[in-house]
Amino acid sequence: MPIPVEDASGFQGSADRWLSPSSIEELAANLAEANRLEIPVTPSGAGTGITGGRCPNGGWVVSLEKLTRLEVHPGFAVSGAGTLLKDVHAAASNSGQFYPPDPTEWTSSIGGNIATNASGSRSFRYGSTRRHLRSLTAVFMDGSVRTFRRGEPLDFPFEPVPAPATTKNTAGYALHEGATWIDLLAGSEGTLAIVAEAELALLPQPKELLSGVVFFPDDQSALAAVDAWRLTPQLNMLEYMDAPSLDFLRGPYSNEIPKQARACLMIEQELDSLPGDPVDEWVNRLESAGALEDSWFGESARDRERFRAFRHTLPELVNAKVRANGFQKLSSDFAVPLEANARMLAFYRESLAAAFPGRFTIYGHIGDAHVHVNILSASAEDFEHGKEWMELAARTAVSLHGTVSAEHGLGKRKRHFLPLMFDEHQIRNMYEVKRRLDAKCLLSRDTLFPDLLVVD
Ligand SMILES: Cc1cc2nc3c(=O)[nH]c(=O)nc-3n(C[C@H](O)[C@H](O)[C@H](O)COP(=O)(O)OP(=O)(O)OC[C@H]3O[C@@H](n4cnc5c(N)ncnc54)[C@H](O)[C@@H]3O)c2cc1C
Repeated sequence: MPIPVEDASGFQGSADRWLSPSSIEELAANLAEANRLEIPVTPSGAGTGITGGRCPNGGWVVSLEKLTRLEVHPGFAVSGAGTLLKDVHAAASNSGQFYPPDPTEWTSSIGGNIATNASGSRSFRYGSTRRHLRSLTAVFMDGSVRTFRRGEPLDFPFEPVPAPATTKNTAGYALHEGATWIDLLAGSEGTLAIVAEAELALLPQPKELLSGVVFFPDDQSALAAVDAWRLTPQLNMLEYMDAPSLDFLRGPYSNEIPKQARACLMIEQELDSLPGDPVDEWVNRLESAGALEDSWFGESARDRERFRAFRHTLPELVNAKVRANGFQKLSSDFAVPLEANARMLAFYRESLAAAFPGRFTIYGHIGDAHVHVNILSASAEDFEHGKEWMELAARTAVSLHGTVSAEHGLGKRKRHFLPLMFDEHQIRNMYEVKRRLDAKCLLSRDTLFPDLLVVD
């Protein structure tokens, strides 16, 4: 009986067999067997992905759910691929340390985070998952197990592939000049090897953090504040929500969101060793930006949790609405160079207002020129039209030297975007690398690479 497999986008696949190895040795034996029998294998983490990556078209799913080792040491943690991000955050915090990557979905797994090179809100200051890996243990389709230390260069010849001019990117393989094994495997969406374990770099926990949810009466003031606040020292996060996003949140937060609010920015600033009075400075910043007085600020862990929950509730509400409408998620993950941020936003706003009035939201990591557009399809025609709009937006991002995926990966739902960003020769270079590491092309079939490249 086929086993149905879904992810958080509502994409559906099915597997012939579901394996959950309890050790790296068992995982290696599973892959060697699948390789010998020529059975396609798809790795699965916690299923919070939103591009259909873990949903197979037949074959075996290898779930990492039992590889949950977690040890915290000064400066690093050893984590199994199946360990949940929230457990790493909690254990690091108990030791007075912290793990910077912060994709909004804390129930994702470390293996899934590495496979998608996940980032999220704090990447504004700390970058994406790749930057925080000290080592990585990967299992290849032939059953071999290798541990790669940070900085270990690729030990085979490859033709470099250019990277976009964005602060984050996870589209295609990181095959720039001098690329390392960690560069390549992090963000390769489980198409080259299965991540079994990793050593994660931890930083000392900041003693004082100021968090804020700043409301604005109009969008222009919020966007002007993004440019003005970008260089604020020790700013960890600069996140944005537009008016339709706030309208979504007015459901659960009706008494708390100011009535006049039509846009919002979320910030977090580390205060340790900052000169002057940072709170006074925020008062001045808010005044000159025309922010609403009843914005929220706090310095306690409880405040941070409250604001974080507010931020996390938004994609959850949007995803629930999309599902209730009976359509798959139609959301963008494009990023552009910082200097192209205003142009990309203007394109979003004008084209969406014309094509999907009242049926879209824009929110996300504006500090990285990376916001997510969600189209809330109301009909099958809307959904088809929405797919066309996504492709137009992908082309626009690429024309501005941006990326078609900053943090979610392309999976199965967005793999047709890869040729918008890379030419055929560059994609073939990537595919050559895949064939070198997975000679029978069994791992994560139909993920990342468009059909045109499925060769003999
Ligand atoms: C509400 C919500 C908010 C989100 N916010 C963010 C955000 O802010 N930033 C962000 O980056 N993402 C975000 N995501 C997306 C998602 O959480 C990330 O992509 C996450 O990294 C997926 O991890 P997972 O364990 O759930 O992986 P899965 O969904 O199980 O898999 C994702 C991909 O990784 C592969 N994979 C999984 N485990 C392994 C492994 N051990 N080895 C090799 N390949 C593997 C799978 O085959 C698949 O291709 C959000 C998702 C939701 C639902």
